[in-house]
Amino acid sequence: MQEYGELLQRYANVTVRVGLNLQPGQTLLVMAPVAGVEFVREVVKQAYGAGARHVYVDWEDEQVTKLRYQLEPEVALQEFPAWRVEQREQLAAQGAAFLTIHAGDPDLLLGVDARRIGAAKKAGLTALAKYREDIQNMRVSWLVVSIPTQPWAAKVFPEGTSAEQVARLWQAIFKATRVDGGDPVIAWGNHIKDLHEKANFLNEQRFKRLHYRGPGTDLKIELPERHLWISAESTNDQGTVFVPNMPTEEVFTLPYRTGVEGVVTSSMPLNHDGVLVENLSLTFRAGRVVDFSADSGYDTLKEILDADEGSRYLGEVALVPQNSPIANMGTLFYNTLFDENASCHLAIGSAYPVCLEGGAQMNREMLDQRGVNHSVMHVDFMIGSAQLNIDGETHDGRVVPVFRNGNWASQS
Ligand code: ZN
Ligand code: ZN
Repeated sequence: MQEYGELLQRYANVTVRVGLNLQPGQTLLVMAPVAGVEFVREVVKQAYGAGARHVYVDWEDEQVTKLRYQLEPEVALQEFPAWRVEQREQLAAQGAAFLTIHAGDPDLLLGVDARRIGAAKKAGLTALAKYREDIQNMRVSWLVVSIPTQPWAAKVFPEGTSAEQVARLWQAIFKATRVDGGDPVIAWGNHIKDLHEKANFLNEQRFKRLHYRGPGTDLKIELPERHLWISAESTNDQGTVFVPNMPTEEVFTLPYRTGVEGVVTSSMPLNHDGVLVENLSLTFRAGRVVDFSADSGYDTLKEILDADEGSRYLGEVALVPQNSPIANMGTLFYNTLFDENASCHLAIGSAYPVCLEGGAQMNREMLDQRGVNHSVMHVDFMIGSAQLNIDGETHDGRVVPVFRNGNWASQS
């Protein structure tokens, strides 16, 4: 059993070396909560150790963000500063890497007007459209990781003292990111290879459609021609391989925009901007959400779906088995990065063009023609459970079991 200090160093090491795969001379922008200062210092140190040219840190405090949502004049909420846009676009053009350290109080925005949050978020997403396109097309290296904060740890592990709660969340994060066993760089190499084999199997099958059946779910999802299943690794414009999410357990592709029919019900709550959306159900006709409900967080779900036309359609189809390290912990993390990697999920909103052969080189018009959804939103929600079965239907009419009782049907 290693000490916390050593585990923290290992975590920073896989962040810089495996996740970002930072190259000598490359600049790094870190977007981090003030609560993460200890981990950020370790990352900065290791980034320079890897040969970074500059390491910039953009600090954020969630209480300040909350104050803005509550107090800023309505009209100002819809503004996003051009200098922030320029910062991201300039760094992206220089081939910098982007690290987001995502950690927040899941209950932070309870009681804050969902419409005001929606307006501010939409302004940011719209202003950063070009940068986000670079990110979504994997033109630049990026990575999302998490660190515990006190309110988040207390939500996930309500028992014990504050210090114990944070320690337990660190333990869970170290386990989920494969930092607590043997050499984490070797562990990641093996894990990436396993996921790659699953993606290869699906890419060989080239399914026309997936059929999901589970409690509250009977959904058919058409897959576009020449879709690609992707796992762990991506390659940026310079040809550098990086892993954009840590942890990652998913193999994912995109749906054909107008080819989704039926009903799907979430199997775990969705935490969106601090609001918990529970038991959400979506009904699709020709790809569009024509009806929806939720036991809680209905207003937030409505804000998501009403953001633009694309937020009425799906953009991601991801497969995650029930027996993954995160799923096996049986913990609800109230954090999409962890929860989506414990469960099969779908995303409302934009699709990743890289999930289509040659998609990263296509313009918007071509992508529209090929059925690639487009939206300012990309919100993952969990649908996996031990009762979920998924069949793949081939173009010549064969039906191949893909998932049975929440796990891969064949361990091929
Ligand atoms: Zn996903
Ligand atoms: Zn997603």
